[in-house]
Amino acid sequence: MPAKLLEGRSLADKIKEELKKEIEVLKKEGCPLLLAAVQVGEDFASRVYLKQQKKACQELGIDYQIKELPLQITQEELLSFIESLNQDKKITGIILQMPLPSHLNAHQIQMRLSPLKDVESIHPLNMGRLIYGDNKIFPPTAGAVVELLKSAGQNLKGKEIVIVGHSEIVGKPLSLLLLQSEFSSPTVTVCHIATQDLAFHIRRAEILIVAVGKPQLIKADSLKEGAIVIDVGINRVPVLDGKGREVLDERGRPKFQIVGDVEFEKAKEICSYITPVPGGVGPLTTALLLKNTVECAKLQKVS
Ligand code: NAD
Repeated sequence: MPAKLLEGRSLADKIKEELKKEIEVLKKEGCPLLLAAVQVGEDFASRVYLKQQKKACQELGIDYQIKELPLQITQEELLSFIESLNQDKKITGIILQMPLPSHLNAHQIQMRLSPLKDVESIHPLNMGRLIYGDNKIFPPTAGAVVELLKSAGQNLKGKEIVIVGHSEIVGKPLSLLLLQSEFSSPTVTVCHIATQDLAFHIRRAEILIVAVGKPQLIKADSLKEGAIVIDVGINRVPVLDGKGREVLDERGRPKFQIVGDVEFEKAKEICSYITPVPGGVGPLTTALLLKNTVECAKLQKVS
């Protein structure tokens, strides 16, 4: 039997509907709700994210501002700019668009963010709270994976969960989130580029979460029968015809599509649940970013 799809869109819509009500209340109380996105220099991918963020905020009635800064900005100048956003009472959330130019120390700048305005939950204080399980906000992508697992209605007690990818925004926080007692203590293994025998770990994974950014990295025949597969990867690849040739659009340019890290069509026949790409983790990540934005505004109201 083909796998059931774990779709993120309907879950995201539900979260957004609930947020709309909370936003209405906040606005009635006169609370500011403004997300500021800090963009240093020009970056094509960031432009796309900024557009998506703006649209998502507009949809819910959250004010949104892009703070464009020159590529040559110094570390000190950026730190003091962040500080000015921290002090600005109208601004309730801050996103630092990554990557930053290589002359800047991203960690130092992340540490300067007010933890109360840290909508991506990247400040060490918010990251550290994952260990104790007392977070009010969660790294959105890690949170999206957990929401999808919950929607599959599985008891995670003692389950073998394998995460492929150990980045600071996905793999590492996700491993801590999954170990929180609310999830009945699964066994969590984190694999990465230096893992010696990746296939060994994938074969024994009852739940596999992949966040790498390499199309087709996970072959369907390496999966455990009945596994739950969450594909976080987002890759832009050319569309190919049956003979492996690039398909062109009406202007003669190669057509592109978005795929994940897992060989989806074949994997569907082996696992019990799988996330589509696009339409799985992505929409939920955006919804949870908005949820953090509202949560941050609420935290500032009481602080
Ligand atoms: P990253 O580059 O920071 O980390 C990649 C991770 O993959 C590292 O831990 C690295 O060790 C590991 N890796 C690389 N090659 C590997 C291999 N051959 N075998 C095993 N591990 C390997 O990436 P990231 O920022 O965590 O993003 C990962 C992917 O997830 C990207 O495709 C990104 O676009 C996507 N992403 C999606 C969402 C979403 O909302 N859907 C959000 C964030 C990131």
